[in-house]
Amino acid sequence: MSENVIQQKLFDAKKIKEDFPIFRNNPDLVFLDNASTTQKPQSVIDTLSHYYENYNSNIHRGIYQIAEKATAAYEKSRDKVTKFIGAGDRRSIVFTKGTTESINLVANSWGGQNLKPGDEVLITEMEHHSNIIPWQLICERTGADLKYIPINEDGTLDLSNPDKYFKNKTKIVCVIHQSNVFGTVNPITEIVKYAHEVGALVLVDGAQSTPHHRVNVTELNCDFFAFSGHKMMGPTGVGVLYTKPEILEAMNPFLGGGEMIRKVTLEGSTWNDIPWKFEAGTPNIAQVIGFGSAIDYINKIGRDTITDYENELLKYAQEKLQTIPGINIYGTAKDKGAVISFNLENIHPHDVAHILDTYGIAIRAGHHCAQPIMKKLNVAATNRASFYIYNTLAEIDQLAEGLRKTVELFN
Ligand code: PLP
Repeated sequence: MSENVIQQKLFDAKKIKEDFPIFRNNPDLVFLDNASTTQKPQSVIDTLSHYYENYNSNIHRGIYQIAEKATAAYEKSRDKVTKFIGAGDRRSIVFTKGTTESINLVANSWGGQNLKPGDEVLITEMEHHSNIIPWQLICERTGADLKYIPINEDGTLDLSNPDKYFKNKTKIVCVIHQSNVFGTVNPITEIVKYAHEVGALVLVDGAQSTPHHRVNVTELNCDFFAFSGHKMMGPTGVGVLYTKPEILEAMNPFLGGGEMIRKVTLEGSTWNDIPWKFEAGTPNIAQVIGFGSAIDYINKIGRDTITDYENELLKYAQEKLQTIPGINIYGTAKDKGAVISFNLENIHPHDVAHILDTYGIAIRAGHHCAQPIMKKLNVAATNRASFYIYNTLAEIDQLAEGLRKTVELFN
């Protein structure tokens, strides 16, 4: 599909780009590292400055107007998130620093309370380090065993033998929704079904899915869902942990301090209601409010439009990149987000990224916080181009051209 046809059918990415000051300030920048973090529209930046310039104050405690305004704006973001992911109950939404903190919260609080020797935690070989390390740490502390669902050559999960992995001993299953390396979108509903059949809970790492696809946690029926604001055009320093309210209610606090208490005495303390029981101390107020603004921006464009457009970008990029001599693309799942990991034969990924950078093209080179995948692929690192709504077909042409020149340089 040509840029014009996409424009008519979906929307004009070049026009969308005008909403992002970074592209105005760096007119030649081709930003293809969106799986790492995303650019921020003017509306999100304005929301942050508006808060600091007009009603900066701490929340949930001030009895004056600007504090009440800040509290209302912060809590409004919780309502926006609740609706955005189809949670149904605002008490399910805990604001954290990001996906990493959300997963650590579950591992420490739920895991610390419920895991014991003989239990199993089931994750997959496809996880980001942030969905591996917290489980390694808590398994070490509690004596539970950590098991891994293996991956197939094409970058999908090997679910051919579920009985081997989903057992009565399995207490929690933690799985990435969309792989940050392969782009694979995993069959969460099927995994939830296997897990619930053996009485295990399911945590979904939605860091890469939520920005790009419609997510409905009620339909997925997962027990925990974690994601980050900065990967969906929101500020850094804000993320979400969704938990079914009855599970969250039963969990011990993760961090202790102000805000999360009901009563404190020298002998002991009682806890605030959920979700505030899990929001100790002064939260990232500006960022949470700015995150609400990012959700507004996404809703304005429309999530299905974003997914459809990115599918077009992916299709086009795959076709273009396949024509580069010596390219090896990792991850060919049918259900795949707009992420392409690849290597060029005999050229180190860091060299590729460095040469592309001289043409103004920003891609990622490295292990993508997924060293077990690198081991499986038998490589130290890969290149990765990842797309978002402000990317254009012309930028993909530039990427392909840059790669072609890189190959020529090395041969
Ligand atoms: N999970 C996945 C799949 C990711 O891609 C990332 C970040 O790249 C994370 C978790 C961690 O997110 P954050 O650094 O925002 O906590």
